[in-house]
Amino acid sequence: MTEKTPTVGDLVRPTPKIEVPEEVQDAVRTLIRWTGDDPEREGLIDTPRRVARAWAEYAKGYNEDPSLHLSRTFEEVGGYDEIVLLKDIPFQSHCEHHMAPIIGKAAIAYLPGDRVVGISKLARVLHGFARRLQVQERLTRQVADTIWEHLEPRGVAVVIEASHACMTARGVNTPGVMMTTSRIIGTFREDERSRKEVLALMGY
Ligand SMILES: [Zn+2]
Repeated sequence: MTEKTPTVGDLVRPTPKIEVPEEVQDAVRTLIRWTGDDPEREGLIDTPRRVARAWAEYAKGYNEDPSLHLSRTFEEVGGYDEIVLLKDIPFQSHCEHHMAPIIGKAAIAYLPGDRVVGISKLARVLHGFARRLQVQERLTRQVADTIWEHLEPRGVAVVIEASHACMTARGVNTPGVMMTTSRIIGTFREDERSRKEVLALMGY
């Protein structure tokens, strides 16, 4: 048996589309009908399948353990004992009350103990929790606590700013309103100077 050399086409080929069970499609059709439209009209005929696949992506976080992103650490930090900060990390989540988008950005900082992680891992932890049905307060806490427990740093600070479509596009209809949540642990919490420093670096 010969092995075929992969072509560019093979490498960029999107992952195969997942099968969508009929009952899931029916649920979307029911919702469309209930809102007042006809799920059988041409423009909507493939919508149930698309909606289901989109939700498989929005909810991808249920299939992962975000703490695993912190399992590969580097102990050789060259004496670096200052704040590590990743800010303006864009993310998207969905509120668990309306399944409506939460769109925002996060700033994640920690004060290393003995170990550091690749900086992109902080964003991966955020996305692992964001890709679920959430409330912003819990998302903030989960990201901070996971870093605190698995990386064992001296301090963690997470600030999340987001707009909630369930507020901006319906209900009280307040476009542009942002909600801010934070969780600050360890040295950043206990030492006022340290807390001010990290919040200033984050731009607060
Ligand atoms: Zn909501």
